[in-house]
This record gives sequence, C-alpha cells and structure tokens, in this order.
Amino acid sequence: MTTKKRAAVIGSGFGGLSLAIRLQAAGFDTTILEKRDKPGGRAYVYEDQGFVFDGGPTVITHPAALENLFTLAGRKMSDYVELLPVEPMYRLCWEDGDTFDYTNDAALLEEQIRRRNPDDVDGYRRFLEYSQAVFEKGYLELGHLPFLNFGSMIRVAPALFKLKAWRSVYNQVARYVKDEHLRQAFSFHPLLVGGHPFKASSVYTLIHALEREWGVWFARGGTGALVRGMVKLFEDIGGTLRLNSEVARIDTENGRISGLKTVDGYQANFDAVASNADVLHTYGKLLGHHERGRRQQKTLEKRSWSMSLFVIYFGLKRVHPHLKHHMVLFGPRYKELIDDIFKAPTLADDFSLYLHAPSLTDPSLAPEGCSAYYVLSPVPHLGTADLDWDEVGPKYCQRILDYLEKHHIPGLNEDLVTCRTLHPFGFRDELNSHLGSAFSVEPVLTQSAWFRPHNRDRALPNLYLVGAGTHPGAGIPGVVGSARATAGLMLEDFGLPVPGF
Ligand SMILES: Cc1cc2nc3c(=O)[nH]c(=O)nc-3n(C[C@H](O)[C@H](O)[C@H](O)COP(=O)(O)OP(=O)(O)OC[C@H]3O[C@@H](n4cnc5c(N)ncnc54)[C@H](O)[C@@H]3O)c2cc1C
Repeated sequence: MTTKKRAAVIGSGFGGLSLAIRLQAAGFDTTILEKRDKPGGRAYVYEDQGFVFDGGPTVITHPAALENLFTLAGRKMSDYVELLPVEPMYRLCWEDGDTFDYTNDAALLEEQIRRRNPDDVDGYRRFLEYSQAVFEKGYLELGHLPFLNFGSMIRVAPALFKLKAWRSVYNQVARYVKDEHLRQAFSFHPLLVGGHPFKASSVYTLIHALEREWGVWFARGGTGALVRGMVKLFEDIGGTLRLNSEVARIDTENGRISGLKTVDGYQANFDAVASNADVLHTYGKLLGHHERGRRQQKTLEKRSWSMSLFVIYFGLKRVHPHLKHHMVLFGPRYKELIDDIFKAPTLADDFSLYLHAPSLTDPSLAPEGCSAYYVLSPVPHLGTADLDWDEVGPKYCQRILDYLEKHHIPGLNEDLVTCRTLHPFGFRDELNSHLGSAFSVEPVLTQSAWFRPHNRDRALPNLYLVGAGTHPGAGIPGVVGSARATAGLMLEDFGLPVPGF
C-alpha cells in the first residue's frame, strides 16, 4: 500500500479552503493551519446579541465554481449550503437622488438606460458584447491556468491586444456610454477586487458579463454558512483543520520545503506546502530565514498594493424594507475620490460607500424586528496614508453613520444596538496583510497573470501559493480559480490525475 502524500495549506480563506478540498479529494492527506479561531479569512463572522455579520465577501458570483468543489469530492452542494438569488444585484444611489437598479433583467436594465439617454442603450449592448468577449477569454479560458513562464504571457498577448487590454475599465466603458452615472455604474467593479477603475485593465469589465451570466447570490445564513459548508465538506472527506495555529516558519532542506512550525510549537513535516496567507507575509516572515524569502520580499515590497477598507458592522432595533440587499452609495466625487484613496496621504473629506443589508434576504441574521448591516468605505492603505486608525477610526465611523442616517437610514443612531469596525490595522494585524491592504497586490495589467506572484515558487519546487495575491487575483471567483490552478500544479507534480473542472 502506498502512503498518501501530506500537504499543508496555510490559511483558510476561500482560496485555501478550495485548494484543500481539491487536494484532499484527489488523494493528499491535507491539513489546513489557520491563525484565527474561525475559518474563512476575510469571510470571518462576527456575532453579537443575536446579530450575525459576515466580515467580508457578500456578493457570491459564479456559484458553479463552488459547486465543482462538492462534485469533485463526490457530494452535493445543496446538502451543505443553500444559495439564494439577489435581485436587483445592486442598487446604485447618487447624492442628487438619482438611483439605478443594476439588475439581471435585461429589459428593466435597458429601460433605465433609455430613460437617461436613449443612445446609450445601443452603446450598452455593444459594451455587453465586449465584456462577454473578455469574460470568455479572461475568465472562462485563462482564469484557472497558472502563468509560470514568460512564454505563457506571450501566448495570450495577441488576445489581450485584440481586446485592447491596455485601456482602463473607465475609458473602455466611456467609449460605449455617455451618461456619467452610467459610466460609473459600469466601471466601479475593479474596486470590488482592489483595483482603480481608471487604471485597472479593461479586462476587468468581464465582471459585468460574469454577473449578467450567472447573477448574484447570497448564502442562507450568510457567507459564513458557505465557509462552514466548505469546512464540513473538507472534514467529511478526511481533511484536518487546525484553528488557532499561526504558522511561524516554513522549514527548508536541500532546496525544498520540508515542513513547518507554528507559533505555539506544533511542528510537522509535509511533502508540499501551499500558502494562502498574504504573499509578502509568506516570503518575508515565514521564509524570512531563507535567501529566496528575503529576495521575494524585496521584489514584492516594490509592487503597488490595493487599497484598504474601513468597515462598520452594525445592528439596528428596526427593519428598513425600503433598502436593497446590496447598495453602492456614490459620493460627490468619482475619479478624484478614487485618486485620493490610491494616492493621498490623508483621508478624503467625502466617501463612496457599499452598504450591505443581508437581513432583507435572510431575516435570521438579526433578532426578530431588527436588521443587520455592514457599510464599507475604501480607504488608503498604510503605505499611502500612515494614519493612526485607533484615533481616526471612531470619528470616521461616526461620520459615516451620520451620513447614512441623513441620506438612507432615518433614526440610525437612535436605533443602534451593536457596532464594531474593521480598519487597516485589522487587515495588517489580524490577517497579516502587507500595509493593511484589503485585496493584496493591485490588479493592474503589469501585475497580472505571469506578472503576479506565481502559483508555484520558482526556486522551492514544493512551495505553492494560492489566493488573492496570485493569478487571477482577489474576489471569490478569483481565488477559487487560483485554487484550481495551484491544485493542478500540485497534482501534476505528485503524479496524481488532474480533474478537468
Ligand atoms: C470587506 C470585504 C468585502 C469583500 N466583498 C467581496 C464580495 O462581496 N465578493 C467577492 O467575491 N469578494 C469580496 N471580497 C474579496 C474577497 O473576500 C477576497 O479576495 C478573498 O476572500 C480572499 O481570499 P484568500 O483565499 O486570498 O484568503 P484570505 O481571506 O485573505 O485568507 C487568508 C487566511 O490566511 C490566514 N493567515 C495569515 N497568516 C497566517 C499564518 N502565518 N498562519 C496561519 N494562517 C495565516 C488568515 O488568518 C486568513 O484566514 C471582499 C473583501 C473584503 C475585505
């Protein structure tokens, strides 16, 4: 009887969990080591007085990519978690009172576009066609492939050229639609994966086609229920999850990884180690004792990193049925504000917000008669604005709550039952994220595909990476795709069959 190969996955974000399920299902004896007391990474769950708050991702797109994990393991996703459709996918609001329901109902979407500017209907249709072409190439074809050598980049260069990938998302959208609010409505998506809509490659317009293709979903019980379903699946097929296990060091021997050690003294040998932790933390801290780690750390420090976020999780003793599940609240400035978030050494006076109201879809997330929310504001990371968030955080929090009360949620301050925040210090200290970045290495063309940290290290052949810092990048579909790319490499390297999905 051959003994199973042993794999360790450092971190239980969506990328780490997806990879661990793939490895365990394929025949590895897999252990996840997670620093925190609960799995999920950015999808951590906070609970207080009967309110349940998803810490991070709330917009689930491409459910089939998640379903594939259950299928690979010989199980049915519906036995573990239920996904509910969300419509409209988002409601977009501007300060002049204008609103736009970003819906998957084509007729309703076009009717709203027609009311703004009849010429933009045709422009929108051409934009959708463009975004579908990018989606087919950039997501369906390349989104789960590892880019390990420059040749792989050269091979996709003609396609990128044809799709005019050097243009920014906003510039590309502006070629199709004239109305400024519509331009914002179809160009804000890079912000969801840490990108600047005026700098991120037009390849990111694929998010629009992806949402139109499969819609937007929410897990009953919150994203945390999806995480728990994935953990249960992993454990049901024999995987081991160790919580409160912060890895302190990845050990090497004769040019290969030999095992790892945790902060609390656990030590084990592994045939392969994959890190789902921040890429700079992985190289600089966990491999800081090795020349390869130090060299990669220097390279990664020169990269541009995506912005951070200020998130307020709050519960109210009242329901607000006039709201929608996902709302984007644009502030008075668009490009100028985003420039400030990516470049300014201070906090801007204005903000644009994403408001999450999950108990509208699943009332079980708040006590009877109450409602649960989170609101997030993109803010500079600590390398751009070196702010003391313990000091500025409470004031910034109150400004945002007052804004919400004035524009969208009357009586908010009076009805507040519970309130907590997550800010750049939390991303840095809890999640070990470089500069408190919320989405890792910034998604720009020169940091994408082969230019992004690779799914397998070049020098240490049994060290692998998975998650937002690798190809294709942040967001659940991105990191689940990166897990497929990384798993493919690991299975091939260890002579195991690679599944076709
Ligand atoms: C507030 C917010 C909202 C978002 N909303 C959406 C959304 O609606 N839809 C969407 O698709 N995406 C969304 N995203 C992006 C998405 O959540 C992330 O890109 C994705 O979840 C990152 O997954 P990951 O696999 O890279 O791992 P992460 O979630 O980053 O997890 C990494 C894990 O590694 C652990 N770790 C770190 N260091 C160590 C160590 N030394 N030892 C052991 N463990 C360690 C951490 O504790 C963490 O659990 C959002 C992100 C944020 C922050």
